[in-house]
Amino acid sequence: MPSVKRILVTGGAGFLGSHLCERLLERGDEVLCVDNFFSSTRRNVEHLLDHPRFELMRHDVTFPLYVEVDEIYNLACPASPVHYQYDPVQTTKTSVIGAINMLGLAKRVKAKIFQASTSEVYGDPVVHPQPESYWGNVNPIGFRSCYDEGKRCAETLFFDYRRQHKLSVKVARIFNTYGPRMHPHDGRVVSNFIVQALQGADITLYGDGQQTRSFCYVDDLVDGFMRLMDTPDEVTGPMNLGNPNEFTIRELADLVVELTGSRSRVMSAPLPSDDPKQRQPNIAKARETLAWAPRTQLREGLEKTIAYFDALLARGEIYKPKREGVR
Ligand code: NAD
Ligand code: UDP
Repeated sequence: MPSVKRILVTGGAGFLGSHLCERLLERGDEVLCVDNFFSSTRRNVEHLLDHPRFELMRHDVTFPLYVEVDEIYNLACPASPVHYQYDPVQTTKTSVIGAINMLGLAKRVKAKIFQASTSEVYGDPVVHPQPESYWGNVNPIGFRSCYDEGKRCAETLFFDYRRQHKLSVKVARIFNTYGPRMHPHDGRVVSNFIVQALQGADITLYGDGQQTRSFCYVDDLVDGFMRLMDTPDEVTGPMNLGNPNEFTIRELADLVVELTGSRSRVMSAPLPSDDPKQRQPNIAKARETLAWAPRTQLREGLEKTIAYFDALLARGEIYKPKREGVR
């Protein structure tokens, strides 16, 4: 193994991927960032382009990729409901064919491979909080299914490649994560609420706002990714990574209004179909195996995220949507 590791990050120009690339470079690794910019822009990694150990490649993971690397973080897949429901067939292809291509690459070059799976594999859970042993409650034919079932199939592939080809796999089930470089209009709740509050627009609360989510700050999550990748071969996951502090969406709306000092009103809008009612990770496994737990409280993480979007607005890089609360 060479002293400098060569690491492929698929979806590396996205929200989570761009933070991961940054952290790997800081650690001294060589990073190959692969992205087709479906739900991101080059701007997320612009500050890395001159780095001597960073390379950016435009590529769609549904096509084979021939590179030589030591480790693969497979993050390529749109994550927000707006983006993944825009072209649902492509979403399933990205998860399933993308996984097959990246697992094939890992097999050929004998690389360790990490999969960015999701709490969505639990669907609308009837077990709460969700441990990794819970098999989930997923609608196979709904609007969210392209994402949920695509990610579930990708997990199957990871464990079949493990059993069949002895690959070293690391599967993380990521719960809602937020922070700087989220796409301002990808429709996810934290970015939506912050941008609406900063623009003085109505806050679009879907349903009665009593549904819950547990929000993890991006730096904590990326730390968990790297710890999981560095575990011995027998540690495969799936492993929940997220912040167990659970909030109702109404509480989130009120906190964003408070922290931005906004005059925005919180307005009800229809609840999307199959919207999970509650979600909270059980992270006992990550605590024990990785000695990992999130450190950033929601208030502190939101302040940093608000500062990011505030700066984007000041530079005129967020336009005001023609229709408020578009989904
Ligand atoms: P994101 O949309 O910002 O990033 C995904 C990246 O993948 C984008 O840069 C996009 O252009 C790229 N991509 C999409 N399809 C591709 C393809 N076919 N080929 C190459 N690149 C492609 O989303 P994110 O929040 O950074 O999510 C990253 C990963 O983490 C995703 O796999 C997502 O499912 C998973 N995840 C994220 C969260 C979260 O809360 N952020 C929660 C659960 C799981
Ligand atoms: N949500 C909301 N207003 C918005 C965007 C989202 O009330 O403008 C709600 C959404 O219905 C869901 C929660 O916030 O209950 C989290 O939504 P998000 O799309 O961020 O993620 P996911 O549903 O995939 O967890």
